[in-house]
Amino acid sequence: MRVSEGRVTVTVPEQPEAGKGADVFFNPVQELNRDITVAALRAYRERTPRVSTYLDATAASGIRGVRAAANDWETTLCDIDDDATALCEQNLERNDLAASVRRSDANVLMHSEAFDVVDVDPFGTPIPFADAAVQGTKHLLCVTATDTAPLCGAHFESGVRSYGAVPRNTEFHAEMGMRVLLSAMVRTAARYDIAARPILSHATKHYARTYLEFDHGAKVANDCIDELGYVHHCQHCLWRDHDYGLIADAPEDCPVCDEHLQTAGPIWLGRTCDPEFVSGVSEQVTEEMGTADEAKELLATLRDEIDTPTHYDQHRLCKRWGRGAEAMDEFIEKLRDAGYAASRTHYGGTTFKTDADVVEIREATAE
Ligand code: SAM
Repeated sequence: MRVSEGRVTVTVPEQPEAGKGADVFFNPVQELNRDITVAALRAYRERTPRVSTYLDATAASGIRGVRAAANDWETTLCDIDDDATALCEQNLERNDLAASVRRSDANVLMHSEAFDVVDVDPFGTPIPFADAAVQGTKHLLCVTATDTAPLCGAHFESGVRSYGAVPRNTEFHAEMGMRVLLSAMVRTAARYDIAARPILSHATKHYARTYLEFDHGAKVANDCIDELGYVHHCQHCLWRDHDYGLIADAPEDCPVCDEHLQTAGPIWLGRTCDPEFVSGVSEQVTEEMGTADEAKELLATLRDEIDTPTHYDQHRLCKRWGRGAEAMDEFIEKLRDAGYAASRTHYGGTTFKTDADVVEIREATAE
């Protein structure tokens, strides 16, 4: 099967049942993720002109790496599977592009060689690659995680084992997953005196994707650790709060309804995006990208998302309050009119962020 994305056309095997059992994996649904990757690589080169090398560490058909090579990155494509690396070679040749192809365990490669930008896009959790990826990255580490059930607390024990944090299955589950992933990556990098700061992150119910910029030194790594902490959350009235630090300081019961609170963490409480970088990425989304409109819309929402560690869903709140939902723009306007910061989020059409608490939201948006 031939697939054209951006400036390249590649061959990929027909995918039986969502890629399971295919000779080499390919997921057409990840085109948006790959379009944003290419735009992010372009924007990152503007931000850091000296960068030139890119490792597609888990390449499969090579589509990501081939697209990077078509954008003048000095690219290495790595996969542990013979069929995958053979296909990477073919796909480079088909597009008349030169890149290095390695049939290797990515962990071995990343422990022995460093690249300006490393991309880890594995099956499920990226954690088995995390230590090597930190060693093998000079400037920017791009990571996808598709194990959203462990990340967001739906598979609790598995989440605890993989990520060394307590995830909770809240109504802001995709953001919970993103912040659990970021916590694990930040703690992994800190072990090597590296600050890993997310400059772009986006999530759906199927995956979380983040771009972590590295800065070296114990002091900056400590500063990153200081942005970890805990979220305390009431499943009953949806009140939540957070506190920074590695020792949870949870109130026992919800201050609004006296129900039991659930605590998640340590999760990343800091910014998940740098709005300036996000604007730069948006400028690099170009017409030949199949998901250009969707990518621009997503990036605009990410740029404007206010910086709070959790979000709300208007429909869930209104259901609890026994109230009808209203148009999101009007709802957000009411919060702003009452003096609160408020924005939509990319986590869903009825989601929003605000600095108002759940009681203040209810009052501010009452008829
Ligand atoms: N990045 C690809 C894309 O955008 O289409 C998809 C990658 S696919 C989800 C994961 C790939 O990782 C598979 O081709 C698999 O063979 C490869 N893989 C699994 N373990 C690996 C390892 N230890 N080192 C390198 N590649 C590995």
